[in-house]
Amino acid sequence: MTPKPEVFPPDPHNETLIANVHPPEWVNPEPTGRYNLVVIGAGTAGLVTAAGAAGLGAKVALIERHFMGGDCLNVGCVPSKGIIRASRAIHDARVGREFGIGGTEGLSIDFGTVMERMRRIRAGISHHDSARRFRDELGVDVFMGHGRFIGSDSVEVEGKRLTFERAAICTGARAAALPIPGMAEAGYLTNETVFSLTELPSRLAVIGAGPIGCELAQAFARLGSRVTLLEMAPQILGREDRDAAEILHGVFVREGIDLRLGIRISGVSRRGAQKVITVEERGGTAEVAVDEILMGVGRAPNLEGLGLEAAGIASDPTLGVTVDERLRTSNPRVYAAGDICFPYKFTHTADALARILIANALFRGRQKTTALTIPWCTYTDPEVAHVGMYERDAAGKGMEVTTLTVPLADVDRALLDGETEGFARVHLKKGTDRILGATIVARHGGEMINEFSLAITNGLGLSAIGRTIHPYPTQAEIIKKLADAHNRTRLTPFVKRVLSAWLAWHR
Ligand SMILES: Cc1cc2nc3c(=O)[nH]c(=O)nc-3n(C[C@H](O)[C@H](O)[C@H](O)COP(=O)(O)OP(=O)(O)OC[C@H]3O[C@@H](n4cnc5c(N)ncnc54)[C@H](O)[C@@H]3O)c2cc1C
Repeated sequence: MTPKPEVFPPDPHNETLIANVHPPEWVNPEPTGRYNLVVIGAGTAGLVTAAGAAGLGAKVALIERHFMGGDCLNVGCVPSKGIIRASRAIHDARVGREFGIGGTEGLSIDFGTVMERMRRIRAGISHHDSARRFRDELGVDVFMGHGRFIGSDSVEVEGKRLTFERAAICTGARAAALPIPGMAEAGYLTNETVFSLTELPSRLAVIGAGPIGCELAQAFARLGSRVTLLEMAPQILGREDRDAAEILHGVFVREGIDLRLGIRISGVSRRGAQKVITVEERGGTAEVAVDEILMGVGRAPNLEGLGLEAAGIASDPTLGVTVDERLRTSNPRVYAAGDICFPYKFTHTADALARILIANALFRGRQKTTALTIPWCTYTDPEVAHVGMYERDAAGKGMEVTTLTVPLADVDRALLDGETEGFARVHLKKGTDRILGATIVARHGGEMINEFSLAITNGLGLSAIGRTIHPYPTQAEIIKKLADAHNRTRLTPFVKRVLSAWLAWHR
């Protein structure tokens, strides 16, 4: 029997959450005949796959061993953005003096309220992903328990055998661990435990300056923890545009985060209540003493106990289930979607892949993941949002690019908002207005990047954006300014001469 999962702390919000995503009294149905589709894992990929297939008339079984909603609802996007919102409110209050707000010096922060608000909102959202909704409204057979393949067309869950025409592996990923001596004994937080905290750690070490590490390091620092951010690479957000990462680096330093880049952690030990991390940096060794350690060093696919061999499904321990560009595994009946098989581990990609999976697995579609335009955003303050290629990607494909950048300080609304740290940057195929990629660093960069995603997805060039009226004053005007800058570069010296002669003649 799979043990009944729990969530801490036991309060009315978490009771509502559990009642939705893993009801304690849940009774698994009796499988009736062969399913058109069996879905293992009820995170975003599994839920969208199951709901979409059932909505189109398929007979669907959905298996979840922990909480429906997966990482995003329970221990990922939703709780992290909840506390990030609180941390922004606190930051805004701290810098309120610029806006004439007094009395902000001795601000007190109630961490308990911050976390309670997050739990309340998470519980409120959770009915969308609830087991009852999937059973009663969508007609899906929902099984609670660990699913594993026992043959090329069958899965077992809690002693019941389910046979299928097609199956979808949507088992997601979990926090990867680093083999650091003493770390396991000292104990550490991951995304699975950090959102259950009820007391703010006064000193927090965050290991890994990728998106999750950076978001949570800044949020906890703003909530009042003394944060040390430890990273092996020489840059935070190592995969992002270097200028974007540099802006964020400056913000982190200014907000008091102790950034240690290019370091190696050689061990962790416990000294009384504190955890001491031994760090090798610039030829020397230093110790960082903290109350809690948060691990954010990437994601490992949930492959264990899936019985993939029994179904002839190939996998890789770090990359996950092996799929082709149509999401088919090495077993032609079985497909996969989401974090378990895809390098871009986001909720919106899990959703997009699930739609491809349904079309290809159930309707012999030929949709390819390579055709997707995938944006993403790191929800720090400012946010770092990106879509399409970086300059290095274009160079890797032998493409010449024209890069245009406009700083936020050139945008009236950013000045008025006091949010001038950032920029918008676009890479165009040289000599054309075809958008290859774009990066936006702005407080709401994640909202603004959609204009570029729309353009790239639909083959609209930068001049189409230039012809589009943007309301004044908005920060999104920065994108129009990029188009205007591009138009100016397109004026040849001859055209410029003709235009100025025409203007002079009409004066
Ligand atoms: C802290 C954090 C913040 C994030 N923030 C964002 C964000 O802001 N925006 C964004 O787009 N993405 C974000 N992500 C990533 C996002 O959460 C994931 O990309 C998304 O949840 C992937 O969905 P999935 O369905 O592939 O996997 P998951 O959500 O991991 O779901 C997989 C499900 O399968 C279940 N399962 C596993 N094995 C079995 C089995 N054998 N039998 C039965 N069930 C099984 C698991 O219990 C789980 O419920 C964040 C992630 C983290 C950790």
